[in-house]
Amino acid sequence: MQPLHSVFGSGPDNAESSKRHFPQERATLHDAGSSTNEPKTPEPMHSIPARGGIDYDESPFLAIWEVTQSCDLACKHCRAAAQPIAHPDQLTNAEGKALIDQIADLHIPVFVFTGGDPLKRSDVFELIRYAAAKGVHVALTPSATPLLTREAIFKLKEAGLVRLGISLDGSTPEIHDAFRGLPGAWARTIQAIEWANEAGIPIQVHSTISRHNALDLDNLCALFEKLAIVMWNVFFLVPVGRGQLADLLSGEEFEQVFGKIYELSHRVSFQIKTTEAMHYRRYLLQHNLEERKFSHAHGNGHGPRTANHEPRQHEPGPPTDRSSSVGYEPGAPTADAQARSHAWVTRRVNDGKGFMFISHTGNVYPSGFLPIHAGNIRETPLADIYRNAPIFKALRDTARLRGKCGACEFKEICGGSRARAYALTGDPLAQEPCCIYQPRNWHPREEGEPAAICQPALATPLVTL
Ligand code: SF4
Ligand code: SF4
Repeated sequence: MQPLHSVFGSGPDNAESSKRHFPQERATLHDAGSSTNEPKTPEPMHSIPARGGIDYDESPFLAIWEVTQSCDLACKHCRAAAQPIAHPDQLTNAEGKALIDQIADLHIPVFVFTGGDPLKRSDVFELIRYAAAKGVHVALTPSATPLLTREAIFKLKEAGLVRLGISLDGSTPEIHDAFRGLPGAWARTIQAIEWANEAGIPIQVHSTISRHNALDLDNLCALFEKLAIVMWNVFFLVPVGRGQLADLLSGEEFEQVFGKIYELSHRVSFQIKTTEAMHYRRYLLQHNLEERKFSHAHGNGHGPRTANHEPRQHEPGPPTDRSSSVGYEPGAPTADAQARSHAWVTRRVNDGKGFMFISHTGNVYPSGFLPIHAGNIRETPLADIYRNAPIFKALRDTARLRGKCGACEFKEICGGSRARAYALTGDPLAQEPCCIYQPRNWHPREEGEPAAICQPALATPLVTL
């Protein structure tokens, strides 16, 4: 996603609040500085700047507000285990506006209204209008229900919505509707995207990748091209809420899907972002290095290549002189690849690091998939929770990562999904369970750690490249 605005202030004062209150956290946050987690080699990427100069210790790049948990659908993987009726204690209109004021004060570039179904709140248009007046750019992720009418979409546009994020998990009704638990959901989603195009709202499609659709990605992208979306947000399952462990891909399967996404990123017209697959950045870095080596070895152009290694036409190459390119990073994707891959734009963002989630009742979490309660905005200012809650501070400190993530040379741009580590091990600082990469200085036998936790054996690969 392109930055929604370019104002990246330093944020409000970091003064301690007299109303500060953090809940007790679980004993899984071990002390920092374990010798097994000390980096054994100099970190090659420790100085990579955060997106747009944001100091992620002070302010996130992205905040998500679950405006309600009410939803008329019953998706199999639903993080929120959403219900039709709103919780009686969800944030009121006045509390929502007070939250928007804090988002504005923090200059958070991207603020997302999610759910549940945000359209189940009758004041959602008023809240978007209020945010727009404060200079806060709101994106919204509605559910594909009868509430998502052409009239509602045009009303969202009129209120100031800058982007619509809508879920589409399969290229056919059979795949999507089975996953969403509602016949007709696919057709309604396609119709909503067409209305949003008509209204002039940029469309971002969210797809949750699991065993039900991992073989459908080519067809999905062909459909996305026809629908003129601007971004595809690929979610990788975290088994929380109604998410099933049995649907989770293995470490090898993650790599296969990464390969497919990387290949697709070379030929689709929209950007691709990943969610809860921080190790796609490692994959991206490794393969961009390979592309450069290939280009230099063959001396026939520096541009990125298609999957069959043919040079792409009319594309700029990587900088050949570091001094000529401000911000050049060794091994970083080319400018063209960066433009195609939002995964690189948000390098370093992780659960609790550049990212926060505010629940329908005001509870704050490092992610919607990481249910460790860090505080409540009814008791503690949002900035105070983000900057000072122990769980947020621990998650931003890569020296505290355990297992092979703690030893990994990619941990500053990756660090693994903290939510998935927590979901599978109960420890938010444990190694990413679904990464097969073996860090250079990590010796699992000495460390007493498994190479990867999530490695079910499959007879056939999920994705054929
Ligand atoms: S549409 Fe979203 S909130 Fe509603 S059940 Fe599905 S995943 Fe949950
Ligand atoms: S070992 Fe951890 S930090 Fe390294 S690439 Fe895998 S998930 Fe990322």
